[in-house]
Amino acid sequence: MSYCVNCGVELNESERRCPLCGVEVINPAKPYSPNAERPFPASAENVTHRAVRVIAAKVLSLLLAIPFISVLLADLVKDGRLTWSLIPAGCIALFFMAAVFPCLFRRPRVWLFILFGTLETAAFLFGLYMLLGGNWYFLFALPVTLLTGAFVIGCQLMLGSKKASLPLKMIIVLVLAAVFVLVLQMLIELHLKSRIHFDWSLYAAVACAMLAVVVLIVGSLIRKRENVRKKLFF
Ligand SMILES: [Zn+2]
Repeated sequence: MSYCVNCGVELNESERRCPLCGVEVINPAKPYSPNAERPFPASAENVTHRAVRVIAAKVLSLLLAIPFISVLLADLVKDGRLTWSLIPAGCIALFFMAAVFPCLFRRPRVWLFILFGTLETAAFLFGLYMLLGGNWYFLFALPVTLLTGAFVIGCQLMLGSKKASLPLKMIIVLVLAAVFVLVLQMLIELHLKSRIHFDWSLYAAVACAMLAVVVLIVGSLIRKRENVRKKLFF
């Protein structure tokens, strides 16, 4: 049994530093062993991490509130109504929802926050559209925002999946990327030139498809090698 030279707390071999005062543990008779069982529940550390996250989120919220209120006030005092300030204020609100809001949750579900972020971006762009006018929102900005959100959620869900193997994940992400660039160019061409035409997106999609084939071949080779090893050694 070791004791902290500074505060006298009883220490396990699993501790490199005293958990109470942070002083390094040096006991030549019982050296530090990273694999030794820790006496503290793993959830205790999660609680500390969460507390730090919540404090950081609160400080960031206060910091963001300063420019948010300043621009709105400046606009209101100068013109007597809100006009240009809605754009920077909207950007700050969007940043808050994307970066700070998820920190307040115990176990943030990433895909849910990407979905929120997509809908918030769509709402912000709709605000801009109402403010500035034009015909760019429903046929271009909204579909591109939704397409990007769907693509990022698809990739996130796929990469976070515990069931799929790494090659399968990579293949599906490459296929999603190919579909994403093709639909993106279709939307751009439809909006700018009122036609459906593919060139750069086609090159990118073909490159994705070829990479997917390479991953498929390498994946099957690795699997075959593993099977041979199992037959030979077990
Ligand atoms: Zn100590």
